[in-house]
Amino acid sequence: MPELPEVETVRRGLAPYIEGALFERVTLNRSDLRFPFPDGFVSGLEGQRITHLGRRAKYLVATLSGGGVWLSHLGMTGAFLVADQGVNEASRLNPGDSSGKHVHVVANLIHPARGRVRLSYSDPRRFGFMDLFAPGAANPFTDPLGPEPLGNDLSAPYLAGRLKARKGPIKTVLLDQRVIAGLGNIYVCEALHMSRIDPRRAAGTLTEREIERLVAAIRQVLEAAIAAGGSTLKDFAKADGQPGYFQHSFAVYGHEGDPCPRPGCGGTIERIVQAGRSTFFCPVCQR
Ligand code: ZN
Repeated sequence: MPELPEVETVRRGLAPYIEGALFERVTLNRSDLRFPFPDGFVSGLEGQRITHLGRRAKYLVATLSGGGVWLSHLGMTGAFLVADQGVNEASRLNPGDSSGKHVHVVANLIHPARGRVRLSYSDPRRFGFMDLFAPGAANPFTDPLGPEPLGNDLSAPYLAGRLKARKGPIKTVLLDQRVIAGLGNIYVCEALHMSRIDPRRAAGTLTEREIERLVAAIRQVLEAAIAAGGSTLKDFAKADGQPGYFQHSFAVYGHEGDPCPRPGCGGTIERIVQAGRSTFFCPVCQR
């Protein structure tokens, strides 16, 4: 499942090919992904130029020249591929999709510098989706989100304000997308370990200093993952039949029973379940 760093890596990989490009023709090979494509999806894209490819939480958000917004979510197995026209590399998109039968969307674009670019979207499990919003229209996916974890709006004073009086465990509160956008289970576990905070602590009991450590840790774990992703982008499709989302090395996530990697700690990583999600943490150094 692509998390924020993977989506950001995809955005950075795609942007040089599609930012500034004009949708010449869009072909849908089926009427739905996780949700049906909206009415007017194809006609709303064709003739539009992508002025900016952004990301909000785990959504790719493309701003169009007419002011509309094209939104994509990769779900669990969604992947984009760009190719120069005439190079059929659909099979590289998902190794389980050598036939290309899971390529659901194909867009022919004209890029001012690169010429013709073909953008394909493949998604064997179809948990991904796309939507299109008219200029200025409310966006039910991105409007309710809290600040981006890597943006300037996430600060220790902001987070302190949101945690104050919250009695739920800090782990669960950090997964609330209205508090911080796009922070998934893996990176919450990692950031809490890095900042030495027990995931079971009531959110409202964190001190100012702990919140400062936590905000710094959130940025650090995400930036490290994005940096690792950049170098693996070219290997996006792996040979093992799994979609090509890269596997990072994590300090605690997936490490139940392993020694805590913090030097001198000596603790053992435990797994508990909080709000239906696995939490990995070290009960010795996380307080
Ligand atoms: Zn430890």
